[in-house]
Order: sequence, then C-alpha cells, then structure tokens
Amino acid sequence: MAQVLTTDAVLNCGHGKIAVSSSAALHVSGNPVLLQGDFATAKFACANSTPPGPCNAFAAFTAGVSTVLKVNGQPVMLASAKALIAPKGDLVVTSPGQTILDAK
Ligand SMILES: [Zn+2]
Repeated sequence: MAQVLTTDAVLNCGHGKIAVSSSAALHVSGNPVLLQGDFATAKFACANSTPPGPCNAFAAFTAGVSTVLKVNGQPVMLASAKALIAPKGDLVVTSPGQTILDAK
C-alpha cells in the first residue's frame, strides 16, 4: 500500500518542481487526487541546463500506478510512483500531499 497523490503533492524531476493539475471527482484533504492521465499535461520547472536540456514530458511509469483504485476510468497515482521523464529525468515524490488514503 502507498499513499495516494493529490494536487498538493510535492513532485520533482531531479532538477526542479513538477506541477500536475487534476479535476478528479475524488478529493482527499480538500484536493483532487492525481490520475495517470493528468501527468500528460504536467508543468516542469526544470533547471537542467546541460544537454539534452530541461525535462518537458513524462515518458513512462515503471511503478506507482494503482491497480485497484480508478476515477473516471483512470488509475490513481501513488507515492511509490517511479517514472522516466523526457529528455533526461526521473520522478521524485517528496510528499504525497495527504496522509489518510492509501491504495495499491
Ligand atoms: Zn529536470
């Protein structure tokens, strides 16, 4: 089990913060949960100035996609999330944004 991510989660690409917005109907501690599809429109504040340059898109999730909890047909994302970020980053979850809802 891992904590479910919300819009209040603190996410990082290794070089700067990542903001992910969500309009999911399921809220925890007042904020909508993050769904896998929400990461397609993530906003990167990446400071990587060395080639190949700043992170700009999620490439693939290798962990942390819920297998049991979905909203609007989309899996909820978990604090155990691991992802590759194009062109050269890795997702770091510093805080899930809430502590009362766990899923797997
Ligand atoms: Zn980056």
